[in-house]
Amino acid sequence: MKKSIGIDLGTTNSAAAIKKVRVEVLKNAEGDFITPSCVTVRKRLIRKPEFIVGRHALEWLRQEPENTITAVKRLIGRNFHDPEVQELIKNGRFRCPLSPYSSGSQNSLAIAAGGREFSPEEISAQILIKIKADAERILGDEVETAVITVPAYFNDKQKHATRTAAALAGLKVSRLLSEPTAAAISFGVDQISSDEGKTVLVFDFGGGTLDLSLLAISGGQIIEMAKGGDMWLGGEDIDNLIISHALRETAAKEGMDDVRLRALLGRLEPSQRNRLLAELKTAAEKAKIALSDSPEACIAVLGLLTDEDGDPIHIEAELSQEQLEEMLAPLLTTMLRLLRNLLAEAYFSPDLIDHVLLVGGSSRIPCVIKTLRQEFGADKVLLHERPMLAVAEGAAILSHRLADTLECPSCGGETSQHNANCPHCQFNLATYTTKHGLVDIVHAAAHDYFIRLENDQRFLLVKKNSVLPCSSTEIFQLVDAEQELVHMQFYNVVNNKEERIGDLWLGIDRDSTTAPQTEELPRLAVTLNIDENNLVSVQAALVGQLKGKVEGTLSRGKADERLFLRLEQIINEADRKGCSTYTVADLLCRAKGIIRALHKVVDAQTGEVDGAACRRVEEKINKAVRISEAEEAPLTQIYYAESMLADYGMLIAPALQERILRKIQQLRETDEEGSYEETMQAMDELSNVLENPGLEVVHALTQIENACEICHQTEPDKAKRFMRAAAEVLASAEAGEELRFEQVLAVMPEVEEVLDQHGRSIQKIHRDIRK
Ligand code: AMP
Repeated sequence: MKKSIGIDLGTTNSAAAIKKVRVEVLKNAEGDFITPSCVTVRKRLIRKPEFIVGRHALEWLRQEPENTITAVKRLIGRNFHDPEVQELIKNGRFRCPLSPYSSGSQNSLAIAAGGREFSPEEISAQILIKIKADAERILGDEVETAVITVPAYFNDKQKHATRTAAALAGLKVSRLLSEPTAAAISFGVDQISSDEGKTVLVFDFGGGTLDLSLLAISGGQIIEMAKGGDMWLGGEDIDNLIISHALRETAAKEGMDDVRLRALLGRLEPSQRNRLLAELKTAAEKAKIALSDSPEACIAVLGLLTDEDGDPIHIEAELSQEQLEEMLAPLLTTMLRLLRNLLAEAYFSPDLIDHVLLVGGSSRIPCVIKTLRQEFGADKVLLHERPMLAVAEGAAILSHRLADTLECPSCGGETSQHNANCPHCQFNLATYTTKHGLVDIVHAAAHDYFIRLENDQRFLLVKKNSVLPCSSTEIFQLVDAEQELVHMQFYNVVNNKEERIGDLWLGIDRDSTTAPQTEELPRLAVTLNIDENNLVSVQAALVGQLKGKVEGTLSRGKADERLFLRLEQIINEADRKGCSTYTVADLLCRAKGIIRALHKVVDAQTGEVDGAACRRVEEKINKAVRISEAEEAPLTQIYYAESMLADYGMLIAPALQERILRKIQQLRETDEEGSYEETMQAMDELSNVLENPGLEVVHALTQIENACEICHQTEPDKAKRFMRAAAEVLASAEAGEELRFEQVLAVMPEVEEVLDQHGRSIQKIHRDIRK
């Protein structure tokens, strides 16, 4: 039977668990419950690079820090220019070089390791691949689906990237579950009955982060009310404090000052220094963990350092619980401040909290527990037996609930979710799941979701904490009756900061607009859907029209985002410098073709990029840039020639019609496939054919028609006069008489003036919406 598991994909450590009759945490291939979230990429000469994941990768971290990636969760779903990523680079916290992805947008992110570029998703996928394989080994069965946990503060992009990582690892994600909710489930506090609602604070203190979440729980429903904490405060900071302590003590023992000792460290060969620092870190962490159970511990790294004369310096220090508590005093103050801030923001005081759930390895530290007990009252603070595994256990419980098939809690036999009774032992499953199950975890929107309107205003589409899944549809207006492009930009507000979460472009084919002509501006219905995992998809459609419709998940740092950004730049640039009517018409037509092609570049499920399609779009964009810079307009010319043939074909000799059609076809093909130069050449050739003396009358008529269209709103009398002149020629043509175009000749100077003015007038490229 294919299995469903729960996975805690952590910053420092990951773990997997399964619920059968009871919850079991799964041991990995090394026999550990915990797999360090660490990946080493080893370059190989012929074959693809090799990935080493987990404890062995931590060992490689000493030898090849530049090819070993830790804490990839800090990067997943982020842009290169995110302040957090820049901070990581500045602080040297990331040892592998980070850069924008060469085939993604300027904003995307690549990690260089083992001589190649990887996206954070690809590295995360390696962790999941190991977890899946290890789970399959121990379960003796295929693991098909998983509930994967993500921090409560993850935005849509980060969640989507996590999902992509799972897809790359061959895992179906039955739910992305917020970590604090998973923790609450593992404590069993979700089973509080509906008439006794409880407020629970989840205090998750791990290796790299402190995550605080306030949950309201009643009748199996869990609502995340507020979140806080510090993304940069965790067990590793404590390890660093202990390392500094050990160095200080050693320096004092050796009768030297700190600075000199650090200078001796600095003189070591890089490989030796890495080894020493890694051993020191291991020793510091061991001492810290030991101090959670015993009053004293020691840190010792022997024989790896010498002084200027080559005499050995042993790094040795003792540390007591009291000393550690003293060392951690500033950290405990910060922790309390973060807690009080969170409660104040949610208008709660400590006495209104029913339980404080402690999860994450660092929540084991005695002075942390003591501080929380003082703040909330000892009886409220609940410790988890396995704080580092609580989140994985919660995920496993939900995974079990969501699986189509599950094992009967009574006999262990296979049964379906939908059975009221177990087919093997007749156990009453329905009552059991209602009583014990997470019948209804309420997922709520993690953030407010906005769309941008004209003049850079924002419109709220979905409010934070709306129950998920949810869908919100709003009707907007285009800003211009003739508008052919709509650029929708969506935003989140995360931690009071606005984040652009993605864009959706819609190209409107004027020819395909079937709506009756009215004075009103066209209306656009925009729908934002958020599923249980807080994943966002958007749809937009012109109201009352079948054709003007687009949908998509939002662009997410892949090649398509980069190309959409370039499209945005071209349009902004054309708007900034002000282009004439014909150039704009050409650019709009081109932009719509690019948008259509771009919507097909990335696979919405796996995020895979169709490289060839991507290059084709890139070429189209490069061409659009040159054409609009040169103020050329081949597509406008095609449009002109085609409408001339359609409207006045009967006045053109068949052989000439043939030639024009051939040249149109040639220009269309070169515009699609050929280079810029070839396109210009084809455009010249069409122009040459159109200059045929036999087309003079037809040009005049086409121009009159165009001029009428331009001035029929503003100067109806003029338009009528133009029409009468054209009618005279057409009447004579229809009667088979010699063409009479005296009137045409009379109006032509005026017609040319109208066209000239229109052609030279600067067009704004509308792409906004308004409410
Ligand atoms: P987590 O992110 O929940 O996996 O927690 C990992 C962090 O918890 C690491 O910094 C560990 O050193 C730390 N840790 C694990 N066990 C203990 C313990 N008993 N006492 C103190 N810290 C611990």
